[in-house]
Amino acid sequence: SPDTKPILSVDKLVKRFGGFVALDGLSFHAAPGEVLGLVGPNGSGKTTAINVISGLYAPDGGEVAFDGEPIGGIASHKLVHRGINRTFQVPKPFMSLTVRENVRVALAYGHIGGTPPALDALLDEYRLDAVADRPAADLNSAQQKMLDLVRALATRPRLLLLDELAAGLNPAELHWIAERIKQLAAGGMSIIVVEHLMGFIEHITDRVIVLNAGREIFEGKLAAAVKEPQVIEVFLGG
Ligand code: ADP
Repeated sequence: SPDTKPILSVDKLVKRFGGFVALDGLSFHAAPGEVLGLVGPNGSGKTTAINVISGLYAPDGGEVAFDGEPIGGIASHKLVHRGINRTFQVPKPFMSLTVRENVRVALAYGHIGGTPPALDALLDEYRLDAVADRPAADLNSAQQKMLDLVRALATRPRLLLLDELAAGLNPAELHWIAERIKQLAAGGMSIIVVEHLMGFIEHITDRVIVLNAGREIFEGKLAAAVKEPQVIEVFLGG
């Protein structure tokens, strides 16, 4: 509802790489328990937005606020303690550690406050129980994505950023992960997803922000976005 205080506010965010402006005054907010999609053509700044919000990059301008507190420029490991975590397009587990050890590290490291989830329950829920004692290097790419998600969940995030988690999953896995994401949001977690699969985005999101050239060009339901001439143009005309 419009009365709900945003958990995340992004205000006129700017990120440059040399002379290139990747985020050019991006503003949006996310509410508690919301699944928000970031969509837009390749190079429009979606991953950069996730990287700045999660503390991988400091912004060059504008502000990011989490729970009303400015967080722009705070390092990602500190943001994990505050309750922000993310997954990566290409997961980077500790390859020589087992799946269980990877999750144990994350459990020990997480957001201060909240009840830690049980390790075995997490592994069961995300179908990693059968590979729990194998090195992460042995996992296939879908399993590595699940491990990356479980590592993020083990830190008890209140804001979870998912960067192309669904890419490369088969239809059954997609359906299953969509239900998991909706269930996490129903429990109060705010989730921001970057995905190229529009059917998946439509199924799981409450709202989308459409980016083009580092700015928001649309905010609202995906079904409404795809009827906007400006949105159609950036997807088809690019
Ligand atoms: P999207 O996720 O929407 O495909 P990105 O945020 O990955 O877009 O990239 C936005 C633009 O910023 C692209 O032109 C990309 O090449 C550039 N970019 C992203 N990260 C870096 C970086 N670390 N160094 C230089 N350029 C970058």
